[in-house]
Amino acid sequence: MSVLEQGLVAGGTLQGTCTVCGQAATFSRFNDNLRESGSCSVCNSNNRKRQVAFVLRQFYGLPNYGRFAFNSDFVIFNTETSGSFHEQLSRHSSYYASEYFGPQYRPGAMVDGRRHEDLQNLSFDNNTLGVVLSSDVLEHMPDPYKAHAEIHRALKPGGRHIFTVPFDDQAFQDQVRASLVNGKLVHHMPAIYHGDPLNPNEGILVYRIFALEMLVRLNQIGFNTRLHVLHEPEFGIVGPGALVFDAVKTPAA
Ligand SMILES: [Zn+2]
Repeated sequence: MSVLEQGLVAGGTLQGTCTVCGQAATFSRFNDNLRESGSCSVCNSNNRKRQVAFVLRQFYGLPNYGRFAFNSDFVIFNTETSGSFHEQLSRHSSYYASEYFGPQYRPGAMVDGRRHEDLQNLSFDNNTLGVVLSSDVLEHMPDPYKAHAEIHRALKPGGRHIFTVPFDDQAFQDQVRASLVNGKLVHHMPAIYHGDPLNPNEGILVYRIFALEMLVRLNQIGFNTRLHVLHEPEFGIVGPGALVFDAVKTPAA
């Protein structure tokens, strides 16, 4: 950790502009998990959400301040239905947000007022979405590359999937920690659970830690993927692990 980051973990703060709410803010309450901490004084976003918002703004020519302003026909699909990033994006007219509520629901169904989608079997038509956002979601899928293929199908040519996942840039092969074999959960390594906003008392299983293999497999699906290593303290974005992927659906030749 840098001197800056050590200072933040020790209780320091940053002043700057939040890429989620677009307002001047103080970023505080950083802890050892820098990626998941550092609340915005205005909207409560954390470091990781600001990273995704930073890349989103960068690619669509939006300034790093002010509300998100996209063309009204630009279709955004966000794979979460809570938090300040969702709240900011939900002002946009062509915005879909979903959660995964379980195998008993039909993709696209509404469950208690929220849309259900299975990323491995999306309800969206081919070539309909402008951008898909997912932040630490794909590691919880038993078949994440099926999800990537579905996202690719639903994106318009030239559309992007901007996402974060736990990623080991020192390894080639993904670390497969668990898998479904004939529908049964099999653990290959000790189980890791992440916090789950839908089930705060239970957590959600991590099937996989991604590695460089992911870039190759995304290329095979038809994505051109870039890895952005961010360090933008003036926007409340600090490392390590400030990695955001941007996978573009290559237009058909
Ligand atoms: Zn904010």
